Amino acid sequence: MFKTALLPLIIALIGGSRQAQACGRHPRWDRRGESKLSSRQATDESSAANSTDPSYECLWYSYQPVLDIKGNYPAQYTIAIIQANDTEAQSVFATINATLNSKLPNDVPHGSPTTGPVGVSYSPTDPDCWWSYNLCTTPDSSTGLPADITILPEPMTWGLAFDDGPNCSHNALYDYLQEQELTATLFYIGSYMFDWPLQALRGITDGHEICVHTWSHKYMTALSNEEAFAELWYSRKAIKDLLGVTTQCWRPPYGDVDNRIRTIAQALNLTTIIWYYDTFDWEEGTNGVTSATVDSNYQGIIDRASNGTFATHGPIVLNHELNNFTMSEFIKYAPAIKSALRAVVPFATALNIPQPYADSDITFPTFADRNSKSSTTTNGTTGSGSGAVDGSASPSGSSVSGQASTAAQSGTKAKSAASPLRDRAGYGVLEMLLVITLLIIGTWG
Ligand SMILES: [Zn+2]
Repeated sequence: MFKTALLPLIIALIGGSRQAQACGRHPRWDRRGESKLSSRQATDESSAANSTDPSYECLWYSYQPVLDIKGNYPAQYTIAIIQANDTEAQSVFATINATLNSKLPNDVPHGSPTTGPVGVSYSPTDPDCWWSYNLCTTPDSSTGLPADITILPEPMTWGLAFDDGPNCSHNALYDYLQEQELTATLFYIGSYMFDWPLQALRGITDGHEICVHTWSHKYMTALSNEEAFAELWYSRKAIKDLLGVTTQCWRPPYGDVDNRIRTIAQALNLTTIIWYYDTFDWEEGTNGVTSATVDSNYQGIIDRASNGTFATHGPIVLNHELNNFTMSEFIKYAPAIKSALRAVVPFATALNIPQPYADSDITFPTFADRNSKSSTTTNGTTGSGSGAVDGSASPSGSSVSGQASTAAQSGTKAKSAASPLRDRAGYGVLEMLLVITLLIIGTWG
């Protein structure tokens, strides 16, 4: 308890120098000036997870599995392209590209990969269902594309997710989630995973759900067919190579997606998950967004739990593990969120997808499982927040009322299993039994 209470303060004190960045305008962790003396030996997940000192957590380390595969991937932080020797990717892309050229010949890239659709004219009929511009999340039925997921089908349920990881200094946040018995959906950036593979490994080891957040975090609708494909292909591949699972979900940076990008994602079995409420934690310190703004946004979403807004669905909220502020801000509001909502769960649980990975028996509780074990206490929060800013994906971060689409459940699998995910906070069951046995032997012997 003592440790938990101090976590936000610790994070605030030691991580405050890292400037908040707009979602995706992430600084590459600065390694300039570092010598071999300033690197560290972190050889496995637990050794990388044993400090909450960001200055130590973010010391560079060498990790052989990354060195072994790096040559098969695009350069980090650059727009991905299909690698010359990657015949599998070339073959899969050729099929997808043929589909795109026949079905969506007029859905072409628009805007800039780094600044988005600034100054781009846009058809008011929105034939491409371009989220970035007008919040379209439900493609025309003739496309055969599912609606993006923007809300959850379960009432009073907070879909817990963090974008833009793995952050090298996320141990305090992940420790907190463990202590609170919370798991989340983590949208990891492929290039980040290559810098911080053991931090990424902690995400899946702790029982979180891992989803794709692209290779270089660019505006996807500005990319060519091949680039957009490669952004998804190599970030999904990084999760497979480093974490051992094939994920089936992704979130477009900036919420920037259209039917062309949706078609590529669908072909790769990646369900598109957007959000409905934006905390704007990513914008703190810029464009007039202050910590008070983000406080108000969090409180506003929480307040809606007591006014009936979530009586028929659950909110998907955008927040980040981007920096110290975004992480500590969630920790600050987590108790109120848990009190006000009936459940705080990753999307796999909220969408009742017990086996979210295509090639792994890792399971998540179904929502029914989760409900049967959890308290149903609700409406514990009151407040006078001004209301959250509804999901906005405009490049300027301006507030636009989002439209709720029916939460699609594409990719849902019915198979259920009950194997618990590993709990690193304590010992595993076997270890506990061993300890108890030794204690008994010691007492009796
Ligand atoms: Zn992002």
